[in-house]
Amino acid sequence: MSAPVLIVGGGPSGLSTAHSLASTGQKVLLVDKAERLGGAPILSGYAKLVPSGEWAKDAIGGMVQRVQSHPLVEIRTETTVTDYSGAAGAFEFKLSGEDRTRKTAATILCTGFSHFDPVNKPELGFGTFPDVVTTTQVEQMISSGEGVKCLSDGRTPERVAILLCVGSRDRQIGREWCSKVCCTVSTNLAMEIREALPQCSVYIYYMDIRTYGLYEAYYWESQEKYHVKYIKSRIAEVTFDGKRLVVKGEDTLVKRPITIPFDLVVLAIGMDPNVDNARIASTFGVDLERHGFLQRAATYRAMGGTTRPGVFVAGAATGPETIDDSIAQGQAAAMAALTSLTAPANEAA
Ligand SMILES: Cc1cc2nc3c(=O)[nH]c(=O)nc-3n(C[C@H](O)[C@H](O)[C@H](O)COP(=O)(O)OP(=O)(O)OC[C@H]3O[C@@H](n4cnc5c(N)ncnc54)[C@H](O)[C@@H]3O)c2cc1C
Ligand code: SF4
Repeated sequence: MSAPVLIVGGGPSGLSTAHSLASTGQKVLLVDKAERLGGAPILSGYAKLVPSGEWAKDAIGGMVQRVQSHPLVEIRTETTVTDYSGAAGAFEFKLSGEDRTRKTAATILCTGFSHFDPVNKPELGFGTFPDVVTTTQVEQMISSGEGVKCLSDGRTPERVAILLCVGSRDRQIGREWCSKVCCTVSTNLAMEIREALPQCSVYIYYMDIRTYGLYEAYYWESQEKYHVKYIKSRIAEVTFDGKRLVVKGEDTLVKRPITIPFDLVVLAIGMDPNVDNARIASTFGVDLERHGFLQRAATYRAMGGTTRPGVFVAGAATGPETIDDSIAQGQAAAMAALTSLTAPANEAA
């Protein structure tokens, strides 16, 4: 058996990669900078996942347990990789906090994404008004069991607005990409709020609704069963009138200004490139694509390749991705890495 394959990042894609490789009898070293495994769904405390409806702590927690209990997987948390050198089949590297040099034949980068920081959209009032929150904060309110509350005074909201595309599809701030999951996540969140708080009105402000594929069912169910209201609009700003938050913008269907008061405004934040990507690219000698995500070598021929032979990639490290696609990419990258161990010359063929 060769030296352990190095996997960097223990979110859904890294967990899937580690489990796939270990299941074939291949030793794995799984490294994560965070203090626990699970990636964004665990570290950010997601509630029920789309499309399965399973709690993140059960679904992704189960993936963590499966890897933690596997005898062929060595796990190092609160750790990063330094001094990476060599060529496909014979890399050397060090881990933070260690002096010794380790060896690996292949590496898979599963380093994921960063949540968009909405302070970069100051007109939306995040960081200024405590009752302007993010989708991840509302997920945490639900998953912790405390329920959806206004952070200013703990009251139960009677009117909630969810603003889509915050930090996505916004060329003014250099983020032209669609973050892919936030429409579906937000329609699901709106239904969860309505279910928990039947007296609460929930409005979704949108440019376009992209509940693509089978997720379109969320869009219809949220309206027909849960009476969530949709406003096609451009948001100008969120202000405070001394009692409530006020969402101001233009209803782009009727082309009129709209001003509506709310207790809680939820920003559907997008998926940014991992803030570490410049360092990851320089450590591992791989390229970034023009938005700052990790560059894939090819779209069809060599699934999971980066621009450096022997270094592979999976999941949201390459761009906005769902959990199930991240898991599938982890399995594909595991297969590509295994193939490179037995036939390195064929890796990019
Ligand atoms: C608000 C919100 C809700 C969402 N809800 C859903 C949902 O319900 N269903 C769904 O399918 N998708 C959902 N998603 C998308 C989901 O979060 C991603 O698909 C998934 O997290 C991608 O998994 P990943 O393993 O590729 O990356 P991540 O989950 O980002 O994991 C990356 C891991 O790498 C580690 N890491 C990062 N940099 C380094 C480094 N330099 N060294 C070592 N370790 C490092 C991190 O600590 C982390 O553990 C949601 C996204 C958002 C923003
Ligand atoms: S998925 Fe929806 S909310 Fe997210 S960026 Fe795309 S259109 Fe906007």
